[in-house]
Amino acid sequence: MSLPVPKSGILDIKPYIGGEGRVAGVTRLIRLASNENPLGCSPKAREAYLKMAAELHRYPDGAAADLRAALAQEYKMEAERIVCGAGSDELISLIVRAYAGAGDELVYSEHGFLMYPINAKAVGAKPVAAKEIDLRADIHALLAAVTPKTKIMLLANPNNPTGSYLARAELRVLREKLPENILLVIDAAYAEFVGAEDYEDGRALVDAYPNVVTLRTFSKIHGLAGLRVGWGYFPVEVAGVINRVRGAFNVSLPAQAAAVAALGDREFVQKSIALAKEGRAFLAKELQGLGLKVYPSVANFLLVEFGASAEDIRIALKDKGIFVRQMGAYNLPQCLRITIGTAEDNAAVVGELKRISGLR
Ligand SMILES: *Cc1c(COP(=O)(O)O)cnc(C)c1O
Repeated sequence: MSLPVPKSGILDIKPYIGGEGRVAGVTRLIRLASNENPLGCSPKAREAYLKMAAELHRYPDGAAADLRAALAQEYKMEAERIVCGAGSDELISLIVRAYAGAGDELVYSEHGFLMYPINAKAVGAKPVAAKEIDLRADIHALLAAVTPKTKIMLLANPNNPTGSYLARAELRVLREKLPENILLVIDAAYAEFVGAEDYEDGRALVDAYPNVVTLRTFSKIHGLAGLRVGWGYFPVEVAGVINRVRGAFNVSLPAQAAAVAALGDREFVQKSIALAKEGRAFLAKELQGLGLKVYPSVANFLLVEFGASAEDIRIALKDKGIFVRQMGAYNLPQCLRITIGTAEDNAAVVGELKRISGLR
């Protein structure tokens, strides 16, 4: 008798490894490895979450109607075309599962979010990476990577881990030139942080075309990564498909309640955006002052080139309780990704790096 064997492609997956956050014997930890919100979450979200402790024996609303209504109002969307997920990671996985299978291809950009190739392999499809230019997605390379087997194109805008983004005009050209049978997924997990005039999160494209979807998350700007809530805005047919394949109760009761409250706390959102913007400018300037190459970022993190000593520096920081993310899995082993923290966190990173470079 032979043992159970998973479907082809699954064992090719290198499991996704999240950012570290613990070190023995160090009590003050500075966690800048997972692009979390250094302010925590909105006190209103926490309160809504705690209130649900009395209701844990109840199933959540499988349609997440209150949350979708709140999102529809906040972002001027049709509620019927919003689908919520246990983080946008779940939605990525549902989309790939519903639209791609063995033998199909999924196009993404060279240093795009790792969950894209992982999910492609999970369904037996082939992830096809399109070359970037200076760590920025290139629409011509993305389009050139399309073949008759392509089912989905996945683009993080802005991209994690590079911090770069495609402007509205480039996105429009990409969509115009993409065959209509290919689903274009615009993952706008960091949309709130961008602020650039020529940026768009993809909602207008979803309204205009039947093959574009956009994804958002409560994990970053709202500081609810531990709860797992995300949402997507879809053409009505695609929403119907995702609603067929998702778990009936995929977003938990406290997660729905906390997300609604988080959406209502504009002050917290504005504070988070301001902190990221200020910290980003401070860190970029200080790190450049140390002679390091800092890639331009519109998100709540910076990609920084440290050369051959990147891993040694990461470990030296970790020994001081400062966690940043190694980039080997993204084929950028010479870089580290540093989440923007509080002013105090950012100053600690700079101070430690100065000390380390003084030792060298
Ligand atoms: C963090 C992140 C997500 C989603 O995170 P969830 O916690 O699953 O909502 C999606 N895409 C990118 C590019 C991210 O960086």
